[in-house]
Amino acid sequence: MRICRFNDNRLGVVRGAGVHDVTCALASLPTWQYPLPDHDPLIAALPTLRPMLDALADKAPALPLDTLQLLPPVASPRKIIAAPVNYRLHHDEALADPSIHHGTNILPIDKAGLFLKATSSLIGASDPVVIRFPEARNDHEIELVAIIGRPASKVTAEQALSYVAGYSIGLDMTLRGTQERSLRKSCDSYTVLGPWLVTSDEVPDPSGLEMELQVNGQTRQRASTKDLLRDVATLIARASAFYTLMPGDLLFTGTPEGVDPVIPGDVMRARISGIGEMQVMVT
Ligand code: MN
Repeated sequence: MRICRFNDNRLGVVRGAGVHDVTCALASLPTWQYPLPDHDPLIAALPTLRPMLDALADKAPALPLDTLQLLPPVASPRKIIAAPVNYRLHHDEALADPSIHHGTNILPIDKAGLFLKATSSLIGASDPVVIRFPEARNDHEIELVAIIGRPASKVTAEQALSYVAGYSIGLDMTLRGTQERSLRKSCDSYTVLGPWLVTSDEVPDPSGLEMELQVNGQTRQRASTKDLLRDVATLIARASAFYTLMPGDLLFTGTPEGVDPVIPGDVMRARISGIGEMQVMVT
């Protein structure tokens, strides 16, 4: 199943080029009083909601996808976790290019571990990436994103994929510089998630997906998730060793080689096989 959020916080099931409005299913989510939950309520409820979403989608007319404003498919992730330098060729290019490494020590993933991006940086495919520091280098990083479906603490790599609710395409937009990654990659709009969530039953093996990112029609990044140095299951196991992963938490799995700057006016097109494609403007 492909699930999107669109326009004024509406919920949709995507079938082909049509979106079926299933927003009324949200009324069955628990209502919360302060304090708010420590997870995304929709993602937590997804296993029980799916039959209702299917039934509602059958009855709802198809809205043309290209007329809708796509929001991030997860509204309220509590953590956005990201893997640094998780493809060998990206590690090589980062070490070779001073305008990427800025004199900082580019450690491989097994030494660097993981980092966090601010949840306030999250946008959907129809929102523009707004360049925050136009005088500096601001790069695109296409990444496969795993969306956690249920609490995961100290899980093994063998168990890890069973904790995934689904997958999306991510853009880990990155200001290059000497600051901590958590700062440089957390500018408003520097975390794009879209175009929708594809449930994990439709992506049984996340380690053989082809990805491509174009800027203004020219290919900049093209790779396969089979070249990840540490695969999705290993990343989940390692993250869950440090903190409990909660429903709706996002795991950005790292970007392949070909990172390059974007400037206002550019149009990015990101595609991952088995998930979909999205176009994102830069302003
Ligand atoms: Mn990245």
